Amino acid sequence: MIYMDYNATAPVHPEVLEAILPFYREQFGNPSSIHWAGRMVKGAVEEAREEVARLVGCAPSEVIFTSCGSESDNMAIKGVAAANRSKGNHIITTSVEHPAVLNSCHYLEHEGYRITRLPVDRDGLVDPQELKSAIGDKTILVSAMFANNETGVLFPVREIGAICRERGVYFHCDAVQTVGKVPVDCRGMDIGLLSLSGHKIGAPKGIGALVVRKGIKLHPLLHGGAQERNRRAGTENVAGIVALGKACQIAKEEMSSEAARVQQLRDRLEKGVMAIFPQASLNGHRENRLPTTANISFTGLEADSLLLNLDLQGIAVSSGSACSSGTLKASPVLAAMGVDPASAKGSVRFSLGRTNTEEEVNYLLGVLPEILQRLQQK
Ligand code: PLP
Repeated sequence: MIYMDYNATAPVHPEVLEAILPFYREQFGNPSSIHWAGRMVKGAVEEAREEVARLVGCAPSEVIFTSCGSESDNMAIKGVAAANRSKGNHIITTSVEHPAVLNSCHYLEHEGYRITRLPVDRDGLVDPQELKSAIGDKTILVSAMFANNETGVLFPVREIGAICRERGVYFHCDAVQTVGKVPVDCRGMDIGLLSLSGHKIGAPKGIGALVVRKGIKLHPLLHGGAQERNRRAGTENVAGIVALGKACQIAKEEMSSEAARVQQLRDRLEKGVMAIFPQASLNGHRENRLPTTANISFTGLEADSLLLNLDLQGIAVSSGSACSSGTLKASPVLAAMGVDPASAKGSVRFSLGRTNTEEEVNYLLGVLPEILQRLQQK
């Protein structure tokens, strides 16, 4: 079985699994308890907070643990909107964000906020100058992602951060696909709020974090106890938090060598595909991109047929198109980039990670010609 869908989720790292097992056995306490059982886990939660902070360049006190990336996005956008309503009602985002951001903004639109969705160019990039011009007196927040989940395209986050700082507007960055893959530095990049998710980097599903830099006004989403300094109520997912801390620690140590290794595999895959199927084209900026991701349009073919045929060979990839109610709908991200519908319908996302090897890429390139020939004959 070959797994090339790391942008959807990653397998739990074996060292992460080892690290969390005690928290399902003897270390079961509630971190809010002051007795020995509580104290036993409280320290582990705080150590994990430090690991997250170290990886993304912020203070540990600025890290709030959540249940997933979607919760972090919701909390950042709705929380800032609610706490800063008296300052303004305008939020700027982009047309290629994850649904967790787009739908949070859509919800706020119904609540009386004004949303500007910036376009992207053919490479999937936003124009920072266009963003600058969109900021007005009533703008309270810019929400722009770091890396796109479908194409891997990296936004000019440093420039966006500088513009937001200069104009006194909060900057939320959805870095769910970025953290642990390429360097992220909240301090150096002027990122005020940052979303991340454990299951993309080798922790289990059900744990995420939102960084909220000191001084940023934010209302909580969940009301209840005083956990997470009154910012997110609910008994902590201790094992999940420990897992996220461990995954961040491993990423900090291995990120640069892993990125170089995986990029080589990704480039080999891309070159191989182009040689087999010259009509194929790459979606997204060739350089400003995660080293892990290749979004390739097999123009003239339907991505889902290709996906199913690869699945029959044991290879898991993802299609950029979503099959809803029997009709093949092109991906909104590719549509926003101006990719023509015929190419968008044939778009397949290969996203690589820790377990992938050169042999696996070779196997893929070995089975692909026959599959493509069969699909072309249909
Ligand atoms: N943001 C981006 C860019 C993503 O790719 C994802 C997940 O695919 C999310 C947010 C949501 O993260 P989660 O699955 O942890 O809710």
